[in-house]
Formats: sequence, C-alpha cells, structure tokens
Amino acid sequence: MCTLQSVPIVTETISAAPAEPPEPFWKRLRLEEMSAAQWESLCDGCGKCCLEKIEHAETAVIEFTDVACRLLDIGTCRCRHYGERRRHVPNCEQLTPSSVRAFTWLPSTCAYRLLAQGRDLPWWHPLVSGDPELVHTQGISARGRAVPPKRCQRLEHHIVSWPA
Ligand code: SF4
Ligand code: SF4
Repeated sequence: MCTLQSVPIVTETISAAPAEPPEPFWKRLRLEEMSAAQWESLCDGCGKCCLEKIEHAETAVIEFTDVACRLLDIGTCRCRHYGERRRHVPNCEQLTPSSVRAFTWLPSTCAYRLLAQGRDLPWWHPLVSGDPELVHTQGISARGRAVPPKRCQRLEHHIVSWPA
C-alpha cells in the first residue's frame, strides 16, 4: 500500500549580500568635481589659516604667527563675516582646487591640503567623526592659542610653529 507522507517543505530565503555603503564624496570626487556645499563642508573649522603670516622677502619663506585676522572669532575659530569677508579683508585668500595646491603654507592638518596630497581625512574631522568639537578638544585648532590683533604690537614677536 502506498502511503502519502507529509514532508515538511523548507523554504530558504537566499538574501543578497548587503550592499556596500557608497564611498564618501571626498574619496570619490576630485576637488574640482565637488559641489560648493561639499567643498565648504571640508573645512574643519580649525581657524589656523586665518592667522597672520609673515613672508620673508629674501627667501619667500612664510611663517605663521599666533595673531588672528581681525575677522576671526578666536573663541569659535570662525570668520565673523564669511560671506562678505573679502570686502572687509581684501587679502583674504580664496581657496580653490588650484590655489590649495599652490598654497604650500596651508596647515598640514587642513582637509583641502590632505585631499590635494591624495590623503584621507583624519578621524577627528567633523565629516568623519560627526563631532565638530573634536578639532578643538584634540588641540588641532587655534582655539585658546590665537591672540586678537589688538594685543599685537610687532608681528615678528608672534611667530609660532604650531599652526603649520
Ligand atoms: S586650515 Fe583648512 S581646515 Fe582649517 S580653517 Fe583653514 S581652510 Fe579650514
Ligand atoms: S577674513 Fe575671515 S576667512 Fe579671511 S582670513 Fe580673516 S577670518 Fe579668515
């Protein structure tokens, strides 16, 4: 006699491998390919490029001082009039992909400089960590070290190496 047996049917769901998260824009795009918003978001807010510098005429060597640009808020390390900064400070340098490569004085921690050199952003960068305070708490920024221009009598007395 033939008996019918109930055989449990096992259905196996074969799920696709989880998609790799897309690479962040700073790894995918060249500096020239970034949108204005992406470009601006690269700035870690260290404020070090907003310190006065001295260029020695004979050698063209550029040295940092700890004296802040008059528009730099030395507490937040942000420009107080970023939108119209060049109206107030005409010699404020405009960072562009080509100028980043030419400005050899940019701090070694500067995201623009790092990416132009083919390097990655550091762990403390706001885009990586999600925490815009780390640049200050990790001692990267000018916070607590920059002095306001009114406290400077002779710029050459304020030459420092820490922003480089
Ligand atoms: S040094 Fe670079 S990262 Fe720091 S404030 Fe200037 S542009 Fe931004
Ligand atoms: S004008 Fe603003 S952005 Fe330019 S150097 Fe001064 S503080 Fe920095």
